[in-house]
This record gives sequence, C-alpha cells and structure tokens, in this order.
Amino acid sequence: MTGTTTLQRLMDATGAHPDRVFAHQLMETLAIPVFVLDISSHVIIWNRACERLTGVTAEEMIGTQSHWRCFFDEQRPTLADLLLQGRDAEVLQLHPRQGGANHLSAEGWCDMPRVGRRRYLAADASPIYDERGRLAAVVQTLRDMTDEKLAQAALEQLATRDGLTGLANRRCFDDTLHAEWARALRQHQPLSLLMVDVDNFKAYNDAHGHIGGDECLKRIATAVSSEMRANDLVARYGGEEFAVILPNQSLKGAASVAERIRTRVEQLQVPTRLAPGQHVTVSIGAATAIAAPDNSASELVAIADAALYRAKHMGRNRISLPLGDPG
Ligand code: GH3
Ligand code: MG
Ligand code: MG
Repeated sequence: MTGTTTLQRLMDATGAHPDRVFAHQLMETLAIPVFVLDISSHVIIWNRACERLTGVTAEEMIGTQSHWRCFFDEQRPTLADLLLQGRDAEVLQLHPRQGGANHLSAEGWCDMPRVGRRRYLAADASPIYDERGRLAAVVQTLRDMTDEKLAQAALEQLATRDGLTGLANRRCFDDTLHAEWARALRQHQPLSLLMVDVDNFKAYNDAHGHIGGDECLKRIATAVSSEMRANDLVARYGGEEFAVILPNQSLKGAASVAERIRTRVEQLQVPTRLAPGQHVTVSIGAATAIAAPDNSASELVAIADAALYRAKHMGRNRISLPLGDPG
C-alpha cells in the first residue's frame, strides 16, 4: 500500500516515531488550513491547505516567525500568538466567537497580502500540551468564510436598502426611528424628523416618463444624503417622499438642515419641462420631540406630515415647522 510505504520512508528519513509521522501526514493532507507554532512562535507546521489559502509555501514559512505577513499588511499577532502570549483578552477586540477552556476563536477580515484579495477568516487556536502537561505548541485552524460573509452582506443590503436610490428603505426607517426614539427616551435628548416630498412629481413623471422620473428621484436622494451627519438617517419613505431622522437635534437645528436640503435640491436645477425656467423642488415638514413615555414615535411622523401638508398648501418649495412652535 502506497500510504504505508510513504510513512515508512518518512520514518526512516526522520527517525521519528510512527505516531508522530502519521499525525504530521494527517495534518498535511487535511482540507482545512492549519498551522502550528512552537512556544517561541516559530512555525513548525504549515499544511497544504494553508499554502493554498495564503499563497505562501511551507518551505518559506517553517522556522520563521513571519506567519502574520500572510494575513496582515501590518504586524499583528495571529490568534495562535495571542494564545501563546496569554493575551486572551485582546481577542475580545476582534470578533470573538465562542471558545472553550484554553481555546480561542475569532473571525474577521484579513488583508492576505500574498493572494492580493481580502478574505473573511474564522480562526480557532488550541494549545497542545506535552506528556507532562506543559505547553508545547499552539495549533491554529482557519476557515474561509468570505463567500458566506458577502452573501450575508448582500442579503442585508436587500432587506434594508431601497433598490432605486440605495437609501435606507421604509422597513429600515421604521426600525431606526423606534430605536432612536428609545434612545432619546433613555438619554432625555430631542429627536427630530423631516418629511421631504417632491413637488408636482406626477406632472414631472407625465412629462419625462417613468424612467426620467426615476433618474430625478436618484439625484434628489443624493442631494438629500449629502446634507447628513454620521448619525442621521435618510430613507425613502415611499414613492417620491423621503424621511430624515436627526438624532439629538433641536427643532432649530432640524429647520436649518431642512432649509439646506431644500436649497440643495433647488440648486440641482433639474428642469421640469412644465414651464420655462422651472426646476424640480421639494417641500419639507419638520418635527421635534423630547421623547416621553406618554408619546410615541408615530406621533412625530404625524406632526412632520402635518407640517409637510402646510408647506404644500403655502405654495411648495418651502419648509414648515409645527404650528405654534417658534422654531
Ligand atoms: P405634490 O406637490 O402635492 O406632492 O404633488 P405630486 O404630484 O408630487 O404628488 P402625487 O402624490 O399626486 O404624485 C406622486 C407621483 O410620484 C405619482 C407617482 O407616479 C410618482 N412616483 C411614485 N414613486 C415613483 C417611482 O418610484 N418612480 C417614478 N418615476 N415615479 C414615482
Ligand atoms: Mg409630491
Ligand atoms: Mg407624495
């Protein structure tokens, strides 16, 4: 049998115990990428699957401490190094997965300099003890989860983004509004909302066709987004209507964001073909609430909607604040 012959040859060549040679061969042929470090962090095993994953040969790696170069652009300890150095706590700064006693698990994006393509790897590191119970080595196994991760991101994108504009969709808006409401309630901070509606868009559609209308909506979406801060959220609320959540923003601040959005859309100078020199504009209703247990996020939407209605009524291309509020 070929296996036995190879094993015998290895034993003869190395003088190693058959169990050890067998274990080594097993490790070599495993489909799972594996490397092993001795207690001074030198690579002693780098199997073929690890060569394929990293694009670096065992010949190049064995006996060195440069295994990190296969995964990262800048020097960083691998999970096996952290385990060797007893720096388990640092794993918490990665993306920890569950690990047993003396066992570390983490996952995250790796640069993979030699293959030139980032990969999302799940890693497990486990200690190997000698017969006297002393730490002898650490074995790290790897799993390439890039495809799963990308598929998951694509699904999340589908579930939360609007296909036409790339903005958050209605569902994401609802979830975010409720989360922000709860946060405003906890932190006793104001929460503002803007409802932005394109003026006379039915007529625009009639004149430019549905595809022309879609293009216009995309340009408006970009214009509205350009006025956002990091924690704000702009969503496509429905047809030609956008909603903007402004956490920790007073009504005065919200009014100023609304005015900037209105101006920005006007400055796009998207011609309407409806009348010479006429451009696409938006009307905006604003609302602000100090969250309290006896009012709700949907009241905020209703107040902003009512303000939007007034902006339309007063002639469009304007912003409107809640009645009785000096702003
Ligand atoms: P107002 O100034 O009062 O808001 O008038 P309006 O014409 O904008 O409002 P109305 O609600 O009568 O019409 C909205 C139009 O928006 C009708 C619909 O065809 C168009 N619309 C909604 N969603 C889309 C979309 O995804 N693409 C395009 N091209 N048009 C859309
Ligand atoms: Mg409209
Ligand atoms: Mg509308």
